[in-house]
Amino acid sequence: MTINPKMEHFCILCGQSTEHEPLYQKLNKCKTCSLVSANKIPDRQELETVYGTNYFFEGEYLNYLEEKDSLQKNFKKWIPLLKKFVPHGKLFEIGSAYGFFLELARDYWEVQGVDISHPACDYAKSLGLHVQCGDFLDIPVEADKFDLFCLWDTIEHLKRPDLYVKKIGETIAPGGMICLTTGDIDAFVPRIQKGKWRMIHPPTHLFYFSKKTLFALLRKNDFKIVYVSRVGFYRSLKRTLFNLSFLKKNGKWKALYDYYNRLKLGDLSFYLNLYDILLVIARKES
Ligand SMILES: [Zn+2]
Repeated sequence: MTINPKMEHFCILCGQSTEHEPLYQKLNKCKTCSLVSANKIPDRQELETVYGTNYFFEGEYLNYLEEKDSLQKNFKKWIPLLKKFVPHGKLFEIGSAYGFFLELARDYWEVQGVDISHPACDYAKSLGLHVQCGDFLDIPVEADKFDLFCLWDTIEHLKRPDLYVKKIGETIAPGGMICLTTGDIDAFVPRIQKGKWRMIHPPTHLFYFSKKTLFALLRKNDFKIVYVSRVGFYRSLKRTLFNLSFLKKNGKWKALYDYYNRLKLGDLSFYLNLYDILLVIARKES
């Protein structure tokens, strides 16, 4: 892990700050604009290791493919909302992973995606989806082609979210929309849990937005906020028990996790809204 020298000199949001105050040990907060970031930003090679096969299997996810049903339940909830703003046209997803969203979205829009994970892209391609493997900043994107860019729980993973939003703003079709979800570090739960908030886990999560900093980033790139809500998620019961037992090293949860697996109930899911995840839709102003 290396400290990105550029990060020490300027803030990606306000561009002028040289001073950060430490926050919860692993994070920094810009004294000027209050943008929160990880205090160590991994280089590209380290990120490729982070997002190898283990990321989706026993890394950040227990077994991503087994969680398909719960993940798609979330997307099914949000598609009608997206259709209100962009009824048809071309959609591009950044961080398309295994293609679970695009697989549903292709019924309503012409879809494409990009992801940094090779195994994820290979799987998405096997579903017949048009995805590219790589970094969105490195791939050519045809100007004025896409009406909707989606980033589901992705912006917090990026080394330079400012450059992503800038590139989206420069290439999006006139009046096009961006839709994203991300954690809100100013929400009630992180204020109570502080450094123990479940979303704080660099090096996968590098930026921790609030309404204030996320809106500022979008407005800086001529996006007008048209919708915002705090959304819940369908969560895999198996993954939740796994997280509680293995990650917290708690014997009682481990026993419950083993018991659940013996029941062979498949992957049941439950809905939980802790009001700390933002869903934001913004329109590009010409
Ligand atoms: Zn700043």
